[in-house]
Amino acid sequence: MSADVATDALPDDVPQPSTDVPPLVVDHVTTTYRIRGRGHHKLIAVDDVSFTIAPGAAVGLVGASGSGKTTLARMITGSERPTSGSITFGDLAVQKLRASGLRRYHQRVQMIFQDPYGALNPLHTAEYTIARPCRNFLAMSAQQAHDRVYELLETVGLTPPEQFATKLPHQLSGGQRQRVVIARALACEPDVLIADEPVSMLDVSLRAGVLRLLAKLRAEHGLSLLYITHDLLSARVVTDDIIVLNKGRIVEQGATKKVLQHPQDAYTVQLLDAIPTPHRVPSVTGTSKATATSKATAASKATPA
Ligand code: ADP
Ligand code: MG
Repeated sequence: MSADVATDALPDDVPQPSTDVPPLVVDHVTTTYRIRGRGHHKLIAVDDVSFTIAPGAAVGLVGASGSGKTTLARMITGSERPTSGSITFGDLAVQKLRASGLRRYHQRVQMIFQDPYGALNPLHTAEYTIARPCRNFLAMSAQQAHDRVYELLETVGLTPPEQFATKLPHQLSGGQRQRVVIARALACEPDVLIADEPVSMLDVSLRAGVLRLLAKLRAEHGLSLLYITHDLLSARVVTDDIIVLNKGRIVEQGATKKVLQHPQDAYTVQLLDAIPTPHRVPSVTGTSKATATSKATAASKATPA
C-alpha cells in the first residue's frame, strides 16, 4: 500500500467492512516539535519512519527513553498528526479523520497505556469501565454488556469475575488494573492493539503474567499487536518482528529472534547490554558480565520510558 491511498480516503460517514482486516501502514512519518526559548530550534522526535503491521502480526517497537516511541504511538492512534507522512488502515487515512471517523478507527485500533492507574477513572468499577465500550461501540443492551463484561474478565484472568466486577481501581493491584485496561480495549472487538510500555510500571513479579496474557490474546483472537518497550527481552515474549528506534530513526528491523541473537546495529547491542539477565547470550561486543550487570542496575533505577 502506498501513501497515495491517504488522499483517496473515504469520507468519515461511509461504513467500513469489519470482516477483512487491512494492514496498518506507517509511511514515511516524521514529527518535529518546536522547542520554545531556543530561537527556531526544532526537535525531530520521529524521523522518516515506515513500517507495516500485517493482520495478526505482533511487532515490537523498541528503543531507549526519548527515542520517539510514544510520539509514534500518538500518531498511530490519531491523537496527534505527523508533520509529514501518513498512517493508513485500509481506506482510513488516520490524520484526516474527524470525530466520527476517529471513533470508528478506535473501535478497530485500541490503545493500552503505560500507567493503568492513570488510564482508569478512580470512581468507576471494573464492570462500568468495561461495559461502556460494549454499549457505546457495539450498542449492547445492559444485560448483554453485563454478560460480556464477565466473559472479558475471565478472558483477562480476573476470575471469578463477580469478585472483580465491583472493584474500583484502588482496590486492585497494578497487574489487575492493567488487566481491566486490556479487557476494556478488547470490549469493542478491535483488530489491532497498540501497547505502549504496558508492563513497565508494574511490579517485576506481575510483568510476565501480563505479557503472557497479551501473547495469548494475540494468538487466540487473531489480533495484531504493536508492542512498544525499552526492554528488548520482553519483546521476545510477545513479538515476531522487532523495529529498533534510535533518536526517531529506525536503525534495525527484522525477526525478533534474529535481532536478539545477532544484532547488527551498535545501538541494538547497547540496548541488549543494558538488560539484566544471567541467561543472555553474550553480545558481540564481548561486554563482561560485571559491566553488563552494573549497566543493568543503572538502567533498572532509571525511570521507565
Ligand atoms: P519515548 O516514548 O521513546 O521515550 P517520546 O516519543 O516520548 O519518546 O519522545 C521523543 C522525543 O520527543 C523526546 O526528546 C521528547 O522530549 C520529545 N517530545 C515528545 N513529545 C513532545 C512535545 N509534545 N513537545 C516537545 N517535545 C516532545
Ligand atoms: Mg514513551
